[in-house]
Amino acid sequence: YPLASRGRRIPRVLSIAGSDPSGGAGIQADLKSIAANGGYGMAAVTALTAQNTRGVTGVHVPPVEFLRQQLEAISDDIAVDAVKIGMLGDTAVIDEVRRWLEKVRPAVVVLDPVMVATSGDRLLRESAETALRTLLPLADLITPNLPELAMLLGEPEASDWATALDQGKRLAAECGNTVLVKGGHLPGTECPDALVNTTGLLRQDVVEVTGARVHTRNSHGTGCSLSAAMATAQVRHGDWEASLQEVKPWLQQALATSGSLEVGAGNGPVNH
Ligand code: PLP
Repeated sequence: YPLASRGRRIPRVLSIAGSDPSGGAGIQADLKSIAANGGYGMAAVTALTAQNTRGVTGVHVPPVEFLRQQLEAISDDIAVDAVKIGMLGDTAVIDEVRRWLEKVRPAVVVLDPVMVATSGDRLLRESAETALRTLLPLADLITPNLPELAMLLGEPEASDWATALDQGKRLAAECGNTVLVKGGHLPGTECPDALVNTTGLLRQDVVEVTGARVHTRNSHGTGCSLSAAMATAQVRHGDWEASLQEVKPWLQQALATSGSLEVGAGNGPVNH
């Protein structure tokens, strides 16, 4: 845990997300990512999935009363420095998470608006997309991939970086917070990411951080890992740009070394 220096309090980061038993995405990815980025990870499970590197074979959403019990057990006892929200499954879960966020008001909230897995399997009921939009203003940072960004705006998916940035600006203006626009789904040798905020929080409305694109089939859990890492880094830096500058090379390395993981025959996990 090289980033957790001695004498400094370790960020206490809670993931509210779904379980991926194959360990590549979801809360399993979040906990590894939080640890790798110097945080103490906690996890309240919203949904259980049955999945491997080839896809999702089942989703089970337990009664929301038990999610409430998990969240209350944490906030009754532990000060949470940052929350990362991932897979929510359905409207009842979203409503429960909203109630808890409004009560506890965590200092840092990162929302990864998970809707559909790379394999094409739905991780959020279609009927819950409107409810998910109402949760966006409660987050400090939203981390949609390009298909999710388009879905949140009700527009076609961006096929170039300029369009993606324009969509990010409009979502940020609508929600009043920061959007992390991610170039991972675009072609090209460079992989840009950008923080977008129209309220003057950043040094410019758009702050871009670019890195070399890593070509690998083993990218399962990249989005989960990135949002959990950003939540953790933000507690240490108090600054989204500094957080992205630190997290981006870490994620590049996680992707570049994912080939040494021999996990499954499909879209393998990143090496968190
Ligand atoms: N499973 C769970 C529980 C997730 O939260 C996510 C993504 O957020 C995925 C699967 C999808 O991961 P990927 O699209 O990287 O395969």
